[in-house]
Amino acid sequence: MADAAVTTIKVMCRFRPLNRSEVARGDKYIPKFQGDECVSIAGKPYYFDQVFQSNTTQEQFYNAVALKIVKDVLEGYNGTIFAYGQTSSGKTHTMEGKLHDPDMMGIIPRIVQDIFNYIYSMDENLEFHIKVSYFEVYLDKIRDLLDVSKTNLSVHEDKNRVPYVKGCTERFVCSPDEVMDAIDEGKNNRIVAVTNMNEHSSRSHSIFQINIKQEHTQTEQKLTGKLYLVDLAGSEKVGKTGAEGTVLDEAKMINKSLSSLGNVISALAEGSTYVPYRDSKMTRILQDSLGGNCRTTMVICCSPSNFNEAETKSTLLFGQRAKTIKNNVCLNVELTAEQWKKKWEKEKDKNKTLKSTATWLENELNRWRNGENVPVEEQFDKEKAKEEVQALDSGLNNDKAAPSPALAALPGVKLTDAEKQKCEAELTKLYKELDDKDDEINQQSQLAEKLNQQMLDQEELLASSRRDHDNLQKELNRLLAENEASKDEVKEVLQALEELAVNYDQKSQEVEDKAKEFEALSEELNQKSSSLASIDSELQKLKEMTNHQKKRVTEMMSTLLKDLAEIGIAVGSNDIKQQESTGLIDEEFTVARLYISKMKSEVKSMVKRSKQLESTQAESTHKVEENEKELAACQLLVSQHEAKIKSLTENLQNLEQKKRQLEENVDSLNEELVKISTQEKVNATEMENEIQSANEVKEAVEKRIQSHREGHQKQISSLRDELDNKEKLITELEDQNQKIMLEQERLRVEHEKLKTTDQEKSRKLHELTVLQERSDQARQDLKGLEETVSRELQTLHNLRRLFVQDLRAKVKKSGETDADDTEGSTTQKQKISFLENNLEQLTKVHKQLVRDNADLRCEIPKVEKRLRSTAERVKALETALKEAKENASRDRKRYQQEMDRIKDAVKPKNMGRRNSAQIAKPIRPGQLLMAAPTHPGINRANIIQNNQPTGIKGGGNN
Ligand code: ADP
Ligand code: MG
Repeated sequence: MADAAVTTIKVMCRFRPLNRSEVARGDKYIPKFQGDECVSIAGKPYYFDQVFQSNTTQEQFYNAVALKIVKDVLEGYNGTIFAYGQTSSGKTHTMEGKLHDPDMMGIIPRIVQDIFNYIYSMDENLEFHIKVSYFEVYLDKIRDLLDVSKTNLSVHEDKNRVPYVKGCTERFVCSPDEVMDAIDEGKNNRIVAVTNMNEHSSRSHSIFQINIKQEHTQTEQKLTGKLYLVDLAGSEKVGKTGAEGTVLDEAKMINKSLSSLGNVISALAEGSTYVPYRDSKMTRILQDSLGGNCRTTMVICCSPSNFNEAETKSTLLFGQRAKTIKNNVCLNVELTAEQWKKKWEKEKDKNKTLKSTATWLENELNRWRNGENVPVEEQFDKEKAKEEVQALDSGLNNDKAAPSPALAALPGVKLTDAEKQKCEAELTKLYKELDDKDDEINQQSQLAEKLNQQMLDQEELLASSRRDHDNLQKELNRLLAENEASKDEVKEVLQALEELAVNYDQKSQEVEDKAKEFEALSEELNQKSSSLASIDSELQKLKEMTNHQKKRVTEMMSTLLKDLAEIGIAVGSNDIKQQESTGLIDEEFTVARLYISKMKSEVKSMVKRSKQLESTQAESTHKVEENEKELAACQLLVSQHEAKIKSLTENLQNLEQKKRQLEENVDSLNEELVKISTQEKVNATEMENEIQSANEVKEAVEKRIQSHREGHQKQISSLRDELDNKEKLITELEDQNQKIMLEQERLRVEHEKLKTTDQEKSRKLHELTVLQERSDQARQDLKGLEETVSRELQTLHNLRRLFVQDLRAKVKKSGETDADDTEGSTTQKQKISFLENNLEQLTKVHKQLVRDNADLRCEIPKVEKRLRSTAERVKALETALKEAKENASRDRKRYQQEMDRIKDAVKPKNMGRRNSAQIAKPIRPGQLLMAAPTHPGINRANIIQNNQPTGIKGGGNN
């Protein structure tokens, strides 16, 4: 441990130029610079360690202000640079500037670069461990900018009672780039976390901390240096009503850290024993920088505009006050074993001295107690002993904690040592409790932050789920629409298929029809060909016949010629024989004639027979007609009889009715009779007196009754007669009816018989007509035959005549023999030509049929082709349908899978997210030896990237 040296805080004043809006507004440039250390505003001078005018470049400012601090830190001292000033006075410009612009970069990037450059130029036996932290203080909460989850860190004191931010991220770095990366990361995190960066940066303090530990590999000398680079919040006061969007409490908090900074600085400036570092976290962090073990430089940033004059003045005053603060700066050196040994020995010496002092004092006390008077020169020399102890102490660093300044500061309170100790203990306890509470707060706020984060995550998840849901809904709708469309399509396809099927049916029907037609045609063709064959055969027959006839004719001719030749010979040889030969020919002719006549007679008989048959047929038809007529008459009779029967039965009924009436009459008359007889009896009894007179009456009455009775009886008898007559008539009629019925029955039977006979006769007639037809045919044939025969005969006759003529001519010319037989064959020729014509026609028909057949055959492949194409179309449509169906099902399946997948994905995502917050950051890999000198030729020092925070601090503050 090195001796502490008292140094004052260096205060630099920097004026920025008028900015564009100020120039535009026409603000005045108010600062007047007098020399390097004085600036006067409105005639009032303010003195600082150095004043920088508006045209100072970043490099100039850096060289003048910060360059030395790099050396200090690397030599084992603590350093702090902080920028103070109102918002937009140039604090950030000074501290950071444009981080990656070589000209405009501020203090921090330059320091970083220089630290490494310096290290590269140092003794190569030195090993460096550099770590950086970056945090901000906003509303008295410390937020780690390298780990956004740490939002409310607490400040603790290390064993040397130096406050430090507990739990903040310390990143080990081994190159300027890594440091810059950390700064960029921190700045990014800061921007992401807030909504209005300008407002936020003007109300928060940002602190960049660099810890450098070096060890000499040979001497094992260890030095540590700590550098705070602080960009303070805007020094202007936030109004009591609060700035935009802040509530009163917030405004208070924003003011708190700055006002407590002011208080601390005031207390330090006044030399007060109690400094209220604990009033805010900011002042606690900077405790060592303000009045502690630290070489501190404060940059006072000012606006030159008359518009900000008041603020500028207060800032300048603040700076002047801070200028008086004194720090006890000492080297943060860790003792080596050797040094510890020396120290131990010294302590031993001191102990010895103290022990001898104690014995001295004991002896003196005893002597005094024993009533001895100790002479002055033998008395204990306080001053000498003190000097001795101090001499020993000077060799040692006093690392005992200084008595609490708070206790010392209490004015007018006088405490005994015991009380003091007790109070101190109490105070420490309370501070510890305070720290613990801070810790707890930190933990709680971290938890809150975590929960917040989780909530955000959940919200995000929810939003994403919603989005997914929406997307899925959309997808679903789309799929439904697609499905609907495909359904429609399928329907259309089905319709088309149906149409096609109908078409197909029609076509097949057509084809069938065609085939049938074809069959019919082929059948017809067959028939035709068979008929042709038959005709052919007939033709053949006819040919044969003609041949036969020709043969016969030639035979006949030859025989005739032979005969003629014989005749000729005979004539030639003997003229007398001529008569004989002519007689022979005549004979033959007569035979032929006989034959012909025979045939004629036969034909005639046949004709006669047919005529007979015709007449019999006419007769039978006549008979049938007669029978029918008879039958009609019978039927008429029957109907007449039936009518008669009907009228008779009606008559009968009438008569019966009449009879009943008459009987009723008789009954009534009988009754009357009885009545009358009774009356008579009564009257007889009554009128016995009047018998005499009454007798006459009685007689008259009896007569009347008698006459009445007679008439009645007559009537009855007549009626009975009538009845009998009627009954007789009925029976007669019944008989007649029966007879008629019988007759009718008979007639029906007869009719039936006649019918059958008629049928038989018609059948016979039919047979006869057939026969007649046949006979007609035969007759025709016969006629044809007759004609041919007659023609033959004619030709023969002609021949004969010719022959006779010839013969006569021959006879005349005696030896002329010539004959021509061309005529005979003309009819045959005609016949042949007729047959040939027939044949030709038939062949034509045949050809036509064949052509038709061929056409149909030609049409068959077309039809088949069409059929095939239709079938193919049907098949294609079916496959398309199938495909469409498959596609639809596949789509449905895919959609289902997608749904499942998303469902599955969402579940673990939920869980995963919840877990992810708990995953620890991976620990960096082991030690990395970094030896990359950027400046060749300079000595190398080792920068060690370490995993573990060293925790080694410099010696105490004295
Ligand atoms: P603060 O951090 O104090 O609020 P800034 O550093 O953001 O202010 O500065 C405000 C503006 O003024 C910035 O645009 C900055 O570039 C500019 N500025 C500040 N100081 C200077 C200077 N010395 N030279 C040029 N421009 C400056
Ligand atoms: Mg700023």
